[in-house]
Amino acid sequence: MHLVALSAFWMFSWKAFWTFFVLQWVTGGLGITLCYHRLLTHRSFKLWKPLEYFLTLCGVIAYQNGPIKWVATHRLHHARSDQPNDPHSPTAGFWWAHMGWLFAFNEELDNYDRYKVYAPDLARDPFHRFVNATHGWYQVILGIFLYLWGGWPVVIWGVFLRTVFVWHCTWLVNSASHIWGYRTWATSDQSTNNWWVAFLTYGEGWHNNHHAFLRSARHGLAWWEIDLTYMTIRLLTALGLASHLQLPSAQQKARAREPASLPVGQTGVAA
Ligand SMILES: [Zn+2]
Ligand SMILES: [Zn+2]
Repeated sequence: MHLVALSAFWMFSWKAFWTFFVLQWVTGGLGITLCYHRLLTHRSFKLWKPLEYFLTLCGVIAYQNGPIKWVATHRLHHARSDQPNDPHSPTAGFWWAHMGWLFAFNEELDNYDRYKVYAPDLARDPFHRFVNATHGWYQVILGIFLYLWGGWPVVIWGVFLRTVFVWHCTWLVNSASHIWGYRTWATSDQSTNNWWVAFLTYGEGWHNNHHAFLRSARHGLAWWEIDLTYMTIRLLTALGLASHLQLPSAQQKARAREPASLPVGQTGVAA
């Protein structure tokens, strides 16, 4: 995938570029960040079901596995962040957290019957089961449409380069946002808030905020922590398509503060 993606730079066209640009947002921003992560994994808001299913298809085209396996993997990450058995912690090195873990055998995530226990809510839904079982085909179908519409340059930019780009953006949340950045909250892991990862991933780089408040639909909590995905969820709410947005309470925030970020004289997390 990486080698074919490189060939994109020998076949540039504006049509190919804009295909790449729109699809990286649709698959990475809407499919993975908004749907796979904030909606399906954490249920941080409710979405009109037909739109949940449509965005699941956008997510599956990011080629990061089917929704049930993705959600199971991510829930395991939160259950054991930076502990032994975290599927992708940088305590084993940057490259392991970034992409090395994908090439390793993990018996808990090896087959459907093993990993579905971590996403029983999705495993009950026939639509999610079907998409999970057929996840590899949607990218191929998209590729055929793109070829008929614009030939090889559009396929190389819209499928290969776009997939590799979104892969690395997602993987940076697992690697860079557990290594570089600042910590606002005293979480038991090494998660950080990282502005450039947030920029690349529609707000996912505010990862220390996320580890502190798993169910929050909003990841960027300070005024400078721009979170395009939360803005999109707010827009969907205004349109009547999303509801029940989860947000951290003032009490939860007070309990979770990193001791170093508290005003002098106050102590950290209560016993
Ligand atoms: Zn998460
Ligand atoms: Zn994390």
